[in-house]
This record gives sequence, C-alpha cells and structure tokens, in this order.
Amino acid sequence: MTIALDLPTILFVLQASYLAGAMALGYARYRSPDAAGAEIIAVGFLVLALGALMASNAEFGNPLYAARSLANVSLGTLAYALFLAGAMELSRRRPIRPLWIVLLPPLVTVAAGILTGFHTINWLRAMVFNGTSAVAMLTAAWVFYRDGRTEPLAGRRIVALAFAATGADSLMMATEFATGTFWPPLALCFVLLLALKFAIALSVIILTMERTMAKLDRLAHTDALTGLGNRRCFFEAVPANLQAGDAIVVFDADRFKKLNDTWGHAVGDDALQAIARALAAHLRDGDVLARHGGEEFILFLPATGEAGALAIADTMRAAVDAATIADVRATISAGIAISPASGTSLEHLIRAADAALYDAKAAGRNTCRVSRGGEPGEADASPTI
Ligand code: GH3
Ligand code: MG
Ligand code: MG
Repeated sequence: MTIALDLPTILFVLQASYLAGAMALGYARYRSPDAAGAEIIAVGFLVLALGALMASNAEFGNPLYAARSLANVSLGTLAYALFLAGAMELSRRRPIRPLWIVLLPPLVTVAAGILTGFHTINWLRAMVFNGTSAVAMLTAAWVFYRDGRTEPLAGRRIVALAFAATGADSLMMATEFATGTFWPPLALCFVLLLALKFAIALSVIILTMERTMAKLDRLAHTDALTGLGNRRCFFEAVPANLQAGDAIVVFDADRFKKLNDTWGHAVGDDALQAIARALAAHLRDGDVLARHGGEEFILFLPATGEAGALAIADTMRAAVDAATIADVRATISAGIAISPASGTSLEHLIRAADAALYDAKAAGRNTCRVSRGGEPGEADASPTI
C-alpha cells in the first residue's frame, strides 16, 4: 500500500519541522555553552518558518503577491545566512563578528527584487531561494569538515554530512527550477529536506554532547591547581607492568607544611604551581608527569635507565630550586626506582621509589636517591650529580 502525500501537506509538515528544529537547537544552547552558535541556527529555522508563511498566503493575483514573494525569498536568504553564521560559530567556537553581516544577503535580495522584479517569476524565485540554501549549506559542511583537524570529534562529521546532504538536495531543487525538469519529483526533494532539517538539529545536539563528554573527560583527568594530569590520568597512561629500564620518580616538596604555616596557603598553592611548571619544562616525549596528591608529583620515564633517570630527576630538582616563587624558596626531594626486568609491576616500583624518597628526606632533602631494593635505608646513598 502506498500513501501519496500532496505537496501542500508536505510543505505544511516542513514548516512545522522548522519550529521543532528551532526548539531543539534553542534548548541545546540553553543547556550547554558547547552549543554556542546553535541559537543562531535556531533563529534561522524561525525565519524560514516566517518566510514559508509569507509564501503560503501569497496567492497569485493578490495585490500583496509581489511584496509577499519578495519577503519570502529575502527571509529565505536571511535564514540561510543565519544558518551559515551559526554553523561557523558552532564549528570554530568563536562568535561571528559582526553578526549584522547576515543582513547583507537579504538586503541584496530586496534590492535585486525591486530593481529586476525577479521574485514575481515563480521558478526564478524558487531557484534563488534553493540556490542560496545550497551555497550556505555546502559552505557550512566544508567549514565543519575543515575545522575537524582542530577538534577531532566524530560528531563533526555527522554535522558536516547533514549540512552537505541538505546543500546537495537544495542544489538539485535549484537545478530543477532552473531547467524545468522535475526529476526526482519535487515532493521527494521536500521530504528529503524535511528529514535533513531534523538531521541537522540532531547532529548538532550529538556534537554538543560529545563536546561536553570530552570536557568532562579532560576535567576528570586534570589536576585543577597545577593543570598537570592527576592520579587517574597517570595510572591510565602508564602500563601496569613495566619494561626493563623504565623508571618511576616520586617527587615531594620539602617542609611544605612549614611553608604553608609561614606564608599562607595561597603562597603554598603558588609554589605548587611553580613546581609543576619547573618539572613539566623538562619532560621528553613519552614521559608522563602527574600530581600524585598533596605536595607530591609522580613521573614515568620509559626506557631511561638509572643514569638517565637520575640525570632528569636531578635537573628537575635543580630547576625547582632555582625557580622564583614570590619571596619563598621551595625545594623538592626525589625517590627513583628502575624496573629491573620486564613485567615489574608499576605498584611495586612506586613503593620502591617511595622508599628511596624517604631516604632522600633523611639525607637532608633537596636531593635525589635511587632505590636499591625496596625498603627504606637501602637506597643508593651516592651524592646527587
Ligand atoms: P617533608 O619535607 O617531610 O615532606 O615535610 P612536609 O611538611 O612537606 O610534609 P607533610 O606531609 O608534613 O606536609 C605536607 C603539607 O603539604 C601539608 C599540606 O597542608 C600541604 N599541602 C598538600 N596539598 C596542598 C595544596 O594543594 N596546597 C597547599 N598550599 N598545601 C598543600
Ligand atoms: Mg608528602
Ligand atoms: Mg613534603
């Protein structure tokens, strides 16, 4: 059984879909800053609905026919300019400045209509309307695709695809009006347009969700004070079983309680940030540094060996010692443990590094010690380099 829908019905549903699209996008923006730009697209949907209303009441022969037709096509070009502006803001995550630029296409359309009267010729008006849509939608698709390099989220591809398909559908319709050959049938093109409007709204919401999830993921793995990775980040990044020669370094700020008590907690926080910066400045590709908790930091040095790990840890220790932190001098001590064989557990190596740190503290602080076994007192007592 086939159900044939007539064109007026399809057009009515299409108009209703604009309102649904506007509501969905408006709500997405209201709930999330990650959807910035969606509200401009929502306004575009509303303008399309208004434009469609103008056209549906503009009967031929009506004295207002010409004015309504011009309003219809101008509102169309305004809507598509809004679509493009909203899409660009959504993609680049930067506001479009100045936004009044979206008024240029409708102003040009009104001027061209007054000068040429093109809007009173149905096929020409429809061609301009759909042609503008095609240009705006295909450009929006390209913008989303291009900016994917700076934000590699799968949702961007879906948005780009929805815009590209809408642009292709509009291009097909513009061509049909221009040539007078209506194949595939207009009704089919409109139904496709209807589905694609929902696809745009849905894909924007999917992208917004992905952005929010990525942000939460980042927050869950970042230490708020220092900006370094946190413990969770460290244990996800470093393998649970290490290779021979991998090193773990545990750093601990010296007499930090006293620093806090003397200078205040805010200066203590500044000191922790300065320590984090000094440590991070000496990382190599592949090294993993994180705030282990409190005034402790942990560092993974893959395939570095004892001499290399000691050299890096001591460079970092010296960098912290040399860093200027208000009027305060902050120092750190380091405990180092090297994986003796493949398969050594990370947990075991951290315990050994902790024991070596204990020895560094006992040796007077602001120094590094390498673990020799795993128990405090067994660490290498050789002086730092
Ligand atoms: P040691 O040289 O033996 O490590 O002495 P310490 O005073 O550094 O060690 P202790 O464990 O007694 O004290 C650690 C201090 O670090 C206590 C705590 O208030 C401070 N601390 C931990 N986290 C933070 C933080 O986020 N901000 C500030 N300002 N202080 C912190
Ligand atoms: Mg500590
Ligand atoms: Mg300490």
